[in-house]
Amino acid sequence: MGSCIFCQIIEGSIPSAKIYEDEHVYAFMDIMPVTKGHVLLIPKKHVENIYDFTEEDAANFFAAAPKIANALKDEFIPVGMNLLQNNGAAAGQTVFHYHLHFIPRYDETDGFDLAKWESKQDEFTPEKVQELAATLRGKISQ
Ligand code: AMP
Ligand code: ZN
Repeated sequence: MGSCIFCQIIEGSIPSAKIYEDEHVYAFMDIMPVTKGHVLLIPKKHVENIYDFTEEDAANFFAAAPKIANALKDEFIPVGMNLLQNNGAAAGQTVFHYHLHFIPRYDETDGFDLAKWESKQDEFTPEKVQELAATLRGKISQ
């Protein structure tokens, strides 16, 4: 994928602050960090989003995730960590090569605000949620 910025980072034609790579993944510092230690983990294979992963791609990719998280935890001693990942422009995806954000959290005043999540329990009653679960169970292959 010649025009993909993250493929170019993997190839080395665009610079990055790399922290780790193996056969399957590449990890580097986000250029616009939201907290200290904000890292992106990407698959070396160009995969646009979560829908395009094979099971093998996913296994290879996520095998590296605890290594990255533990390195950040040991180095920066955060009190928590968000792992975030956007699929599609409507979900906030701006780079269309799959990436997992590691966002170490220091305290509630560290400037990163996920508190805007508002639960819609009036619309999604426990009965409605059970209905949704039933339809989803039929969609997921073993
Ligand atoms: P998303 O909105 O989930 O698609 O996130 C894309 C992320 O990629 C943003 O957090 C950007 O700051 C980051 N980003 C874009 N270009 C670069 C780059 N050249 N080096 C490092 N991070 C980048
Ligand atoms: Zn790519």
